[in-house]
Amino acid sequence: MALYTSSVARMIEEFEKLPGIGHKSAQRLAFYLLGQSKEKVAAFANAILEARNQLQYCSVCMNMSDKEVCDICSNPVRDTGIICVVEDPRDVVAMERSREFKGLYHVLHGVISPMSGVTVDDLKIKELLARINDNTKEIIVATNPNIEGEATAMYLARLIKPLNVSVTRIAHGIPVGGDLEYADEVTLAKALQGRREM
Ligand SMILES: [Zn+2]
Repeated sequence: MALYTSSVARMIEEFEKLPGIGHKSAQRLAFYLLGQSKEKVAAFANAILEARNQLQYCSVCMNMSDKEVCDICSNPVRDTGIICVVEDPRDVVAMERSREFKGLYHVLHGVISPMSGVTVDDLKIKELLARINDNTKEIIVATNPNIEGEATAMYLARLIKPLNVSVTRIAHGIPVGGDLEYADEVTLAKALQGRREM
């Protein structure tokens, strides 16, 4: 005997695909929504669809944006000579929270990871190289301090240093294996201040 109708089973399966959601939580979320009015469920589904449909990437820094060029890239006060390279859009949010950084960002959308089949071509590295010009003074590599993050940092340094641009790595105020996203503002600000030439 099936426990759920096939459409409810499919709904639970979709919830289970979300990060940090196990089968029991998926079941709880599904039944919660099924207990709501059709209007409430439609509003929920539409909020997800609308956010996804409006999502685009800034054509300069590849961060999530609702415009062609994001607010950070189009801010005249930011120092365009310094580019901080991060793994994903959540890291931009974390860095901005620290209020320490006044340059621009570049979002790679991942790190080189042979284990997960992520290669150089899957990342926004070409786009980063295309941004480097005579005005570029420094590239700060702020990938996470784990094996993949370090390997990616090393790869970028080898690629960019011959262009006569300073390449720096944020200091290890962030514990090794840690995640930028979960570092507090002070730790992140210190990591940025203590950055070293690669
Ligand atoms: Zn941008």
